Amino acid sequence: MEIKKKDIRALTKEQLRVFFVKEGDKAFRGNQVYEWLWQKAAYSFEDMTNISKETRQMLEDNFVINHIRVDTMQRSNDGTIKNAVRLHDGLIVESVLIPTSTRTTACVSSQVGCSLDCKFCATSRLKRMRNLNPDEIYDQVVAIDNESRLYHNRPLSNIVFMGMGEPLMNYNNVIKAIDKITSKEGLGMSPKRITVSTSGVPKMIKKMADDEVKFNLAVSLHSAVDEVRTSIMPFNETFPLQDLRESLEYWYTKTQRKISYEYVVWKGINDTQNDIDAFVKFCKYVPCKVNIIEYNPIDDGEFQQASNEALENYIRTLEQNRIVVNVRRSRGKDIDAACGQLANKT
Ligand code: SAH
Repeated sequence: MEIKKKDIRALTKEQLRVFFVKEGDKAFRGNQVYEWLWQKAAYSFEDMTNISKETRQMLEDNFVINHIRVDTMQRSNDGTIKNAVRLHDGLIVESVLIPTSTRTTACVSSQVGCSLDCKFCATSRLKRMRNLNPDEIYDQVVAIDNESRLYHNRPLSNIVFMGMGEPLMNYNNVIKAIDKITSKEGLGMSPKRITVSTSGVPKMIKKMADDEVKFNLAVSLHSAVDEVRTSIMPFNETFPLQDLRESLEYWYTKTQRKISYEYVVWKGINDTQNDIDAFVKFCKYVPCKVNIIEYNPIDDGEFQQASNEALENYIRTLEQNRIVVNVRRSRGKDIDAACGQLANKT
């Protein structure tokens, strides 16, 4: 019978040290192997040249290294890069590098597919197949950091969890990945440069606040009217705006950090004065800023970007109420790399 080998990168450094001591070796060997796995991103035990042949064989017999591989890389004419990433079991997720004049942002996936059913999002058409492991999330970031250095001559500066999946439905693994990204033994990035975006899972927002996480929170709101929100984001039925509001108030009380609301304005869906007034009211519950995102069509024509007039009306009303609002132009549309377009089409 074949023994199922364990993913060695699921082990902490301490667990690796203990493993080597049990094998009659020195704990220090654990540090060496850990360094190969993480700092040096080794793809095989054979690469670990300062480890004896016997030890490498022993590792080979017990473990696998489940590295991701970038299957295809597409480059947009605006500098955006989209990676189709193949996981060890053959499934594919996508991640995106978004350059601006001053920063490079990695947009990473947290699940294969998504269990939510936002009507306007291409990813929702892939059913959720599984959660990503911490190392699979981390590897996407490393791949983009390398590409940023190669194509834009600078390291990655920011990370957004706005790729495929709902990060708060894979909370533990997302947290472990962020721990690694921010630790000195990983990439040493500041958590202030990381944003986790959620459709709004109140229980998990409260948990994040209790866990005193140091990264930023974005909420994909899109409507502050329950009826409208449920029609475009059906899980709003289970997590209505009142619950979301309470969890955000809890978050702010604990963390004192502003929330970002992601918001798309669609024709005939959320473009009336009533929609605007409800949104402005919602924005006053907790200190926040607003990102108006351009709609990226996902080919069935059911949703259309609202008129400029409706958009301007939103922006003007928010600003009159002293709410900071940014309008985000989408990048990478020519390669289906923009928000909500990630659906493994390549
Ligand atoms: N599930 C998380 C992470 C995905 S983030 C969340 O919902 O926040 C992807 C962002 O792009 C979300 O703000 C989402 O609402 C937005 N989005 C989805 N489809 C889109 C589309 N077709 N055009 C523009 N934005 C879209």
